[in-house]
Amino acid sequence: MTKDAEPEKNDTDRPIRRLLTRVAIGALVLSLILAITGWAVFRFTNATDMLMRSTVKNLALSQRHDLFTDGQIHVILLGTGSPQPGSERLPAANAVIAGDELIIVDAGEGASRTMSALRLPTQRISTVLLTHLHSDHIGGLGQVLNESWNAGRPHEVTVYGPVGSQSIVDGLALQYQADIDYRSSGHVEKHDPTLALANAEELVVAPEDGLVRVFERNGVTVDVFHVDHGHVVPAFGYRIEYQGRSVVFSGDTAATPLMVDAAKNADVLIHEAMNMRMMRNAAQALGEIDMPDVANQAAAIMGYHTDTLELAKIASDANVSKLVLTHLIPAPPNVIAARMFKSGMGQHYSGPIIVAEDRMMLSW
Ligand SMILES: [Zn+2]
Ligand SMILES: [Zn+2]
Repeated sequence: MTKDAEPEKNDTDRPIRRLLTRVAIGALVLSLILAITGWAVFRFTNATDMLMRSTVKNLALSQRHDLFTDGQIHVILLGTGSPQPGSERLPAANAVIAGDELIIVDAGEGASRTMSALRLPTQRISTVLLTHLHSDHIGGLGQVLNESWNAGRPHEVTVYGPVGSQSIVDGLALQYQADIDYRSSGHVEKHDPTLALANAEELVVAPEDGLVRVFERNGVTVDVFHVDHGHVVPAFGYRIEYQGRSVVFSGDTAATPLMVDAAKNADVLIHEAMNMRMMRNAAQALGEIDMPDVANQAAAIMGYHTDTLELAKIASDANVSKLVLTHLIPAPPNVIAARMFKSGMGQHYSGPIIVAEDRMMLSW
């Protein structure tokens, strides 16, 4: 009986021992997990702080001042779209860096933000050239001026443009008055309020004037010329030259022989472009689904923009080395659509044809 009792006792102890062993192993594993987690949190927090500091330093030191000293001209396409709703492209804006000059050609919405994203030193903006006063070309002007001032711009900007440019600058003075007061009060920042805005210089140029000098400074020349943007009068294009390099901006225009003379032998012609075939189809489709107002609008704007095929002939007649299509209507959403957009142009112009993208930079 005694011998038989032993196994019974062992059988009772075994589950308890197993339980205790499991509890011990569990406690050990839990301790290890807690130890590793604590170590990881400590290390990760340290690493996060270090990463944050390193990122801030890199961002602060990564402004593209190098673009001002390499002897090249740089054209940055900040916005290649139009007012077309639904397009992911930003409206018209470009930056030109040549020598010591940072010149903005049109200041559509988002121009300032894109420049900052590209690490362009906005505090060096010296000049804004407005081609005309349509909203998609001026919607970002206030922020271009305000952000560059906040970034420490040590000089006033001059805004050149058609009649009406002065009113825009005056309007911005009202719009930004409170902000300028806050930022120049010295409570947090102390910027010179007299530098916050811009001088406006209104240009008067007739079609027969050809190229008219706007300014020559630091080896950079800027000329303005008249273009044909239908009822939007006046509307201008600009030609910028630096150390034998040249770039021409068309602004918004219907196909015009004035462009051939203004862009003669330019290295790069950056020209607005509309694919009329696509637009005719779009207008027809909108008419078919009983949206006559939009259809009529689509048809009407064809009268004061430039068809891609006409543009190819202009580029050929002007003998430009490279043609860049911007202000794209309709805006191609992908590379296949971009190829369709410029189809047929090669029959009239043998040079390279680039369908612009936002943030594209050309340097030469
Ligand atoms: Zn326009
Ligand atoms: Zn436009």
